[in-house]
Amino acid sequence: MISSILIANRGEIAVRIIRCCRDLGIRSVAIYSEPDADSLHVKMADIAVCIGPAASTDSYLHTQNIIAAACGKGCDAIHPGVGFLSENAEFAKEVQQAGLIFIGPEPKTIDQVGNKVQARKTAQDAGLPLTPGSPGPITSVEEALAIAEKIEYPIIIKAAAGGGGRGMRIVEEPSEMSEAFAIASHEALSFFSNGTIYIEKYLRNPRHVEVQLIADSQGTVVHLGERDCSVQKNHQKLIEESPSTVLSSSHRDKMCKDAVRLFKKLHYLGAGTVEFLVYENKHYFMEVNARVQVEHPVSETISGVDIIKDQIRVAAGEPLGYSQKQIRLSGYAMECRINAKTPGPIGTFNPPLGPGVRVDTHMYAGGSISPYYDPLAAKIIIHAETRAAGIKMMLRALRELEISGITTNMDEQMTILNSTLFKSGTFGTDIYSRIFQE
Ligand code: ADP
Repeated sequence: MISSILIANRGEIAVRIIRCCRDLGIRSVAIYSEPDADSLHVKMADIAVCIGPAASTDSYLHTQNIIAAACGKGCDAIHPGVGFLSENAEFAKEVQQAGLIFIGPEPKTIDQVGNKVQARKTAQDAGLPLTPGSPGPITSVEEALAIAEKIEYPIIIKAAAGGGGRGMRIVEEPSEMSEAFAIASHEALSFFSNGTIYIEKYLRNPRHVEVQLIADSQGTVVHLGERDCSVQKNHQKLIEESPSTVLSSSHRDKMCKDAVRLFKKLHYLGAGTVEFLVYENKHYFMEVNARVQVEHPVSETISGVDIIKDQIRVAAGEPLGYSQKQIRLSGYAMECRINAKTPGPIGTFNPPLGPGVRVDTHMYAGGSISPYYDPLAAKIIIHAETRAAGIKMMLRALRELEISGITTNMDEQMTILNSTLFKSGTFGTDIYSRIFQE
């Protein structure tokens, strides 16, 4: 049993986890950096501990201070949320060594999938289709040129330890290789402290479709269907929806079964995602995200499963208590990410209300969006019977949403929702640049 959780995060995800703790009767302990003293997660938690100054390395990434706070406040578990320490195997290990439960996969699983080169090998062993690419890391321009020749241009150089849409470089022809190789290696090292890079075939305008899974320590693995996250700006997700308009039911079935098979092979524990690219009616494994994702409410909405609650339950050793057959995916769900373009104090904040609308946010009138961290300000999630009805419902919600004091990407989101391209359902990851002619 878990009776007290330290939430090693901030922003809307910390608020989401605190709400879940309250639903479960679990005491919540928030941590915060000095400039976050007035944040909503600090106000909402049962206890809040200041962990350090603004710089993430001195606060939200300071593993020793975080673990000391959890022990000092009598917590029995740590939830890492998303970003920050959520995919840091070393942190997960230290949490366990301190006698606490890490709410997430085992450290060795995080390690196994955290390196994309290794994850590709594991996925291949589990029989998942991969994009053509280098069998392992590439260490020289000559090697890169030879592989690109074999799999044919364009190719994409990726950081093995990459994430968040960063550390990727597209190469269209041999003359670009040596510069791209140097930049990619350098970026991999400076962003992710690991210079390892590898190559994949670059698929033009694919769909990004991912499968949400949850597994318990007894070996039950259940999927909650897919999320289509093809609406992206600079490889970063803007809109996520389910079901995907690109999958037939037999294709969906195949993809979800592939994802379940991979999780079984990994002896995965907790919530996680298998990301695929879908191209010309085929899917290709991309990576595993060994944590809950920002867009998890989309799957919660269509499945009725509270993913955070089940993460906590399975981390405590409880069985999931339901099987795949009991999961019913119903209707259509969509999430729009509202990002702050300019941070600062929030004047008005009136979230949308009414049937089918959910809002996950840490915003409040009189609060602020911090310049120090992630610009995600709110997630608007809708649940409708069909995609067409869902688009109308999201537009209704965004029209009701009132935010003053900061600027956001709200208008951009409405432009996308109103576009014939988005409405048609037949588009790829270049939809943003096509609509805004970037
Ligand atoms: P991250 O871990 O940084 O999120 P991903 O590997 O998940 O990176 O890729 C992010 C996005 O980059 C994908 O959703 C897709 O739009 C694009 N992308 C990645 N790999 C390829 C590829 N081989 N071909 C085409 N687009 C790709």
